[in-house]
Amino acid sequence: MTAELIDGKAVAAKVRQEVAAKVAGGPAPGLATVLVGEDPASEVYVRSKRRACVAAGMAGFHRRLPGTATQQQVDEELARLAEDPAVSGILLQLPLPGHLDADALIDRIPVHKDVDGLTPGNAGRLAQGRDGLRPCTPAGIERLLDEYAVPLSGAKAVVVGRSVLVGRPMAHLLLTRDATVTLCHSRTKDLAAETRTADILIVAAGIPGLIGREHVRPGATVIDVGIHRSRAGLHGDVRFPEVREIAGLLTPVPGGVGPMTIAMLLANTLHAARRQEP
Ligand code: NAP
Repeated sequence: MTAELIDGKAVAAKVRQEVAAKVAGGPAPGLATVLVGEDPASEVYVRSKRRACVAAGMAGFHRRLPGTATQQQVDEELARLAEDPAVSGILLQLPLPGHLDADALIDRIPVHKDVDGLTPGNAGRLAQGRDGLRPCTPAGIERLLDEYAVPLSGAKAVVVGRSVLVGRPMAHLLLTRDATVTLCHSRTKDLAAETRTADILIVAAGIPGLIGREHVRPGATVIDVGIHRSRAGLHGDVRFPEVREIAGLLTPVPGGVGPMTIAMLLANTLHAARRQEP
């Protein structure tokens, strides 16, 4: 069996078009991006987010602080954006410089402007199965699964990785959709024994090539969240050539999950804006 590839670029383009069409029908939402320091990868991500925001017809508010900014300075900037009625969503680009307390700063983002879905308010709502703003990468994966008509209700889903950004919210989203969910991490005793039970396997461990043929049940849907740069290009957490021979559906890297993250950020910003309208 050779897996069908999931075209994340095409689905992301569709989401972005949907968002742009809805933006055109009302007041322009505003997305504030906050970048602290000079991390080159973060600069690239923030630039892409700002461009996508403008392309969708939204207003962009960018705040750039030096790597030496104090906790209080970042805190005050977030407080100003929280008060600004033109700002519908606030994105604090992570990771922050090591001297800053990221959790305390995330707590400063109002739940209704938390377009990254990272505040305890939104994480708690998701854990309780209530409405809220969802973290962009797991929300993008949910959309990919829906676009490819992968049944979630009753499916056995295994998530590898339990980060606040990806693994945990992914597990909760799948649970909300009535999958039977196993969450694996670095202390899991026999990873392959767990992952081989999966109808849907989602890998967000940040370990290049962690998952191979021996981890995958024939015909399973495999979603690779990992992104690793090497001289040969981008790779994921999944050994693509061998898993492609056994999976039913598979996301490539690049062109799978990656494009969905920004698309869902736009969708979240639109959602946040429309809920804030009087
Ligand atoms: P993270 O915060 O480093 O978390 C990694 C998780 O994987 C941890 O829970 C860790 O377990 C677990 N893990 C590590 N080694 C493992 C092993 N051998 N077996 C099982 N589990 C293991 O990473 P993240 O932020 O979730 O990101 C994961 C990957 O996705 C990275 O490559 C990142 O670049 C990528 N990413 C991509 C996108 C996108 O848009 N495509 C978005 C976000 C992240 P412990 O908790 O026990 O340490």
